[in-house]
Amino acid sequence: MTISSFKDNELFQTGYLVAGEWLQTGSTFPVFNPATGETIAEVAKAGKAETERAIAAAAAAFPTWRAKTASQRSEILYRWYQLMLENKTWLAQLMTAEQGKPLKEAEGEVLYAASFIQWFAEQAKRANGEIIPPARPGTRILATREPIGVVAAITPWNFPMAMLTRKLGPALAAGCTGIIKPANNTPLSAFALLALAKKAGVPDGVLNAVAGDTAAISDAIMASKEVRKISFTGSTQVGKLLMRNAAETMKKVSMELGGNAPYIVFDDADIDAAVKGAIANKFRNAGQVCVSVNRFYIQNSVYDRFVERLAEEVKKLKVGNGVEEGVVVGPLIEASALKKVEEHVNDAVANGGRIVVGGARHALGGNFWQPTVIADATEKMKLAKEETFGPVAACFRFDDEDEVIRRANDTEFGLAAYFYTQNLQRVFRVSAALESGMVGINECAVSTELAPFGGVKESGLGREGSVLGLEEFLEVKALHIGGL
Ligand code: NAD
Repeated sequence: MTISSFKDNELFQTGYLVAGEWLQTGSTFPVFNPATGETIAEVAKAGKAETERAIAAAAAAFPTWRAKTASQRSEILYRWYQLMLENKTWLAQLMTAEQGKPLKEAEGEVLYAASFIQWFAEQAKRANGEIIPPARPGTRILATREPIGVVAAITPWNFPMAMLTRKLGPALAAGCTGIIKPANNTPLSAFALLALAKKAGVPDGVLNAVAGDTAAISDAIMASKEVRKISFTGSTQVGKLLMRNAAETMKKVSMELGGNAPYIVFDDADIDAAVKGAIANKFRNAGQVCVSVNRFYIQNSVYDRFVERLAEEVKKLKVGNGVEEGVVVGPLIEASALKKVEEHVNDAVANGGRIVVGGARHALGGNFWQPTVIADATEKMKLAKEETFGPVAACFRFDDEDEVIRRANDTEFGLAAYFYTQNLQRVFRVSAALESGMVGINECAVSTELAPFGGVKESGLGREGSVLGLEEFLEVKALHIGGL
């Protein structure tokens, strides 16, 4: 699909959204295709004034939206879900164009994103309260759940649709309205979903969106007394800043932040399954995933076999523009991301790492990196401490269970962890010992609308998806009734 044909679609929006209108500002910023470097669109550069307008629209829409019954909100959400499915192919093409992930993965993300809208369409009807046995006769105590108010959803570029719906599904289900700030690399994916939301019947003003001058937008959001909740997905560094700023007006916060996932392969594991899981986890979205493995810990006696098998599979991965047939690893999002991967790989080599496959920029040039396997990794290396966010599998050796648990936990992060074993006692022992919000056991995928998603330690606060996701957008009100 050519870029001009994208523009023919009514879902292709480049303005900022206030009260149902897509508006332009005096200036724009470019959105690039990371595979080709082409400019896909010039998007309205919003700042303080536009953000304040968007917040005011969300505040004005709140009383009417919260007054709808849960079933009415549920029906609208369900229509939005259906429209996402109907537009899956176009949405995926747009996402591949601005984010770079292979088309098949982009289609998978559209379905994954839609699953949150479907799930919370159902959960909208379950924002139940409680009746509490009172201490005195003639009284009643009730705890009700109410929408928290205007919400700000700030999202990253790596899953530009799913990270948005994981917030907007529960926010709308709860009766909240909001302002959305997508990443400047990928605003078009977010805007397309918002255009679909309008078609589904989400009233004007319930969802508003701005992108552009991040600092000015952030300041306006954080200064606002109307915004009662910040739901953020992104780096730990920005998450900390937002949490500090939220203290000023005591906004509630949910933080989905960075990770440094360990992936432990014990000597009793099914090695083929562990290799298969490693490929699926590490090279999805070119390694630009918060729950992507950063450290492969392989027990000594199976280390060589695992590394050899992993390298064989990595050699088969086709790199290229995500729209091409058979491509499984796309470009990195931008030049600075490539530079970081290069820095981590060079640092690993300087500290004794052995390149088994890849290890350099790809011959395609641009933002492409060769899928890489590094053996003899150690904790001295940068890639052991920071998110590499690229297609690099670093393999560490270990001797025994206690040692590997200590090393796996030796990080300020705690988002996802994985291990492979055939020993049932070990399954429970190790999962209890890992300091992590999510644990995959003989399983490399931990993202689903059905289960709570979130981290411990500096990987975040709160949970998205599951029955817990709705709670993040609700306040509890206790009613004490006397004279009965
Ligand atoms: P980022 O923190 O740079 O940006 C995330 C969002 O915050 C973007 O919209 C960005 O424009 C905005 N932002 C940046 N500075 C801001 C500021 N001062 N005030 C307000 N907003 C600001 O992160 P990124 O590079 O877009 O995304 C990658 C990071 O996100 C990685 O660390 C990854 O692990 C993390 N992530 C976490 C999850 C999760 O669920 N835990 C999911 C996806 C990505």
